[in-house]
Order: sequence, then structure tokens, then C-alpha cells
Amino acid sequence: MNSDALLLLETVHFSAEKHRDQRRKDADQTPYINHPIGVARILSHEGGVTDIEVLQAALLHDTVEDTDTTHAELEHKFGSTVAHIVQEVTDDKALPKQERKRLQVEHAAHCSHQAKLVKLADKLYNLRDLNRCTPVGWTAERVQEYFDWSSEVVNGLRGTSSVLEEKLDELFTHRRFVS
Ligand code: NDP
Ligand code: ZN
Repeated sequence: MNSDALLLLETVHFSAEKHRDQRRKDADQTPYINHPIGVARILSHEGGVTDIEVLQAALLHDTVEDTDTTHAELEHKFGSTVAHIVQEVTDDKALPKQERKRLQVEHAAHCSHQAKLVKLADKLYNLRDLNRCTPVGWTAERVQEYFDWSSEVVNGLRGTSSVLEEKLDELFTHRRFVS
């Protein structure tokens, strides 16, 4: 087996262990790990991304935000580039939610190219998930607000991947058309 395959296996294993007890917000309580794996697959399968560090960062992108994982841990295990990309896509949970959401819009354009790729795929996955089924307790208005906010973030990420941006635009257009 080549070293990239081994590295990806090591990374997905680490992420699965960290997210072991977490579930998505859908009624089926899908295991959370489906999300980071899906984000990495969007990048490789749909976005044509072969940069191993981007794919690793995608697999790890929610570990610092949502588990006990630290930046230092990622740096030690996967190197400074991967740890840095994850840091760029990690919200500061000490801040109020609306402030975090505002900062995502503000910071999007200033991220590295690698972090922008992960952000685009993350948004694409989450919006598709919302179209697939509404999270427990969410109103139609809340779903719409999430689409509107995502569209603002994506505007700051443009010029990164025409394929992924077109797929996001299709979702935004369809949403406007049906709502
Ligand atoms: P949240 O941040 O609470 O939830 C969205 C996040 O949950 C996603 O970014 C994703 O993050 C994760 N997630 C887990 N499971 C799913 C799933 N099945 N489908 C999609 N995402 C999932 O949402 P917001 O606070 O952003 O709420 C959306 C909008 O609604 C906001 O604009 C907010 O202002 C508004 N709002 C409205 C309320 C209301 O009652 N009307 C209450 C609160 C907010 P990850 O990639 O990290 O997994
Ligand atoms: Zn995510």
C-alpha cells in the first residue's frame, strides 16, 4: 500500500475515535463520522482534489471544534500544515453563536486556498444534508437562514474551485426557486 493510503487510514481512524460518541442532528442520529468522511470524499471525488494534506484536514476539520482534540495534538500527529488548515476552519466556541457566524463571513476571503477548499466542501455537505432531511427541532425559517448565511460565507470563498462553487450555486438557486 502506498504511504498516502496509510496516512489517510491513520487520519480517518483518529477522527472516528474522536467523534466516536457523536451523532448528526438528523432524526436518524447518523454517526457524526459520516460527515468528515463525506467532506473529504466531496473534495476527492467531486472536486478532483489530490492534495493529501487537504484531504486529511477535511477528515479532521471538526475535531478541535467538537471534541477534546487540541491543535498541538494534531500538529504532533499530522504535522503543522494539516493542523493549521484545521485551525483556519475552527470556530472559537467561547464566542456567542451569532458572533461566530459573523466571523465566518468576515474571515472566509482571508483563509488559505487549502482551508477554502475544506470550507466549500463542508458547506456543500451540510446544505445537502439539510435538503435530505430537516434536523430535529428546526423550523423551515431556520433552514432558510442557514442557506442564506452559507451563501454569504461561500461568496468569500469564490475563485477556489469552480466545480464545487457551481454545485453550491445550484443549491442556492434551487432554494430560492422553491422558497
Ligand atoms: P447550527 O450551527 O446550530 O447547526 C448547523 C450546524 O450543525 C452545521 O453547520 C453542521 O456543522 C451541524 N450539523 C449537524 N447535523 C447536521 C445536519 N443533519 N444537517 C446540517 N447540519 C448539521 O445552526 P445555526 O445556529 O446556524 O442555525 C441556522 C440559522 O438559524 C442561523 O442563521 C441562526 O441565526 C438561526 N437560528 C434560528 C433559530 C430559530 O429557532 N429560529 C434558533 C437558532 C438559530 P458541522 O459541519 O460543524 O457539523
Ligand atoms: Zn463540518
